[in-house]
Amino acid sequence: MDSGDIGQIGRAAAAMAEELTTLRQHLHAYPEISWQEVETSRLIASKLEEIGLKPRIGTAGKPVGVVADLTCGSEAKPCVALRADIDALAFTEESDLTYKSLKSGAMHACGHDAHAVMLLGAARILHSMKDRLTGQVRFIFQPAEEHGLVSGAEAMMKGGVLEGVDAIAGMHLWSHVPSGKVQWRSGPVMASSDVWEVCFQGRGGHGAMPHKTVDPAVIAANFVLALQTIVSREIDPLQTCVISAGKFHCGDVTNVIPDRAELSGNVRTFSLDVRDSARASLVRIAESIATAYRGSAETKYINVYPHPVNNDPALAELFRDVAIRVVGEENVEESPVLMTSEDFSFYQSRIPGNFFFLGSGDPEKGTTAPHHSSRFNVDDSVLPTGVSLLVSFACAALEKLRGK
Ligand SMILES: [Zn+2]
Ligand SMILES: [Zn+2]
Repeated sequence: MDSGDIGQIGRAAAAMAEELTTLRQHLHAYPEISWQEVETSRLIASKLEEIGLKPRIGTAGKPVGVVADLTCGSEAKPCVALRADIDALAFTEESDLTYKSLKSGAMHACGHDAHAVMLLGAARILHSMKDRLTGQVRFIFQPAEEHGLVSGAEAMMKGGVLEGVDAIAGMHLWSHVPSGKVQWRSGPVMASSDVWEVCFQGRGGHGAMPHKTVDPAVIAANFVLALQTIVSREIDPLQTCVISAGKFHCGDVTNVIPDRAELSGNVRTFSLDVRDSARASLVRIAESIATAYRGSAETKYINVYPHPVNNDPALAELFRDVAIRVVGEENVEESPVLMTSEDFSFYQSRIPGNFFFLGSGDPEKGTTAPHHSSRFNVDDSVLPTGVSLLVSFACAALEKLRGK
């Protein structure tokens, strides 16, 4: 792929700027949360059909998620997959946008509306280039990235979405990075993510007679404090781990000591050994503290995203070169390692992959609110850049995999 190709791809993407914006804002107004992306999937499939592709809808028996293949030339090898997530989050938008979410309790607050639209733009351009390419591009519009427990990526893999795929790429808009800047990284980029749940069983009673009860609030409060010592005292300081308690529910009435306390939270890390040791410490501390205060503990530990997002070094280098040619060296930087998680890691546990970031934060346009905030919004002017990056990377990866 020469710079003439990159320029041509850039011009084709720029020409669809208005269309990309309109479609992005439409999806923004009609968000669908994880595993409910029925209309979104239908719309994506109809756009793919307009391009001339044959999309297949469905994931884990539900009419959500879309896959389409573009075969270029006579061979379906090598095969590069491009993945966009398409789901919204389950909370209400607070904004004055003309295209604000029309659904209470659902909002595209992570930019997945834009991810879907950019991949559609990429599909159109790659389809127009198919006579000049060799191999196959698989477009994956994945549901349920945000679900937190039942991953859309894992479900699509069980359905065979990676069969025949040699490499995969995914992109995330990033509102705290200036619009148009591109971030890449080789090796680990985002952490694994686990969920823990602990139920402390005490014995409830009158708030004025604590000696006749076993107070689960005291057990739970001690547990949350002791939890802080796992990272600070038990894990190698040169390793990375975060343990947080996100939910703490105990009692509803001021003068009643309740029977139980229910807590849950998150563990994030980059190492399987650290994860296993955090899990063992958490269970030991929960049970020991419960016993010390005459109660009992039931613990549950779920590996939600068991692997970190870990970029294949060769693909990351290839992407960096492509990004420099698309947006210029001054706009390409190395991403920091992040403790957030992404279910793109499921794909990377099976095949080489590259996950990268495109900045979409512009203070003048009001698009710097954090992801997952009720005031999050996307700077639509970066959509053509995202399209160019996806197309250029797919072309470069096909060439590289063919050994050119
Ligand atoms: Zn998100
Ligand atoms: Zn996201």
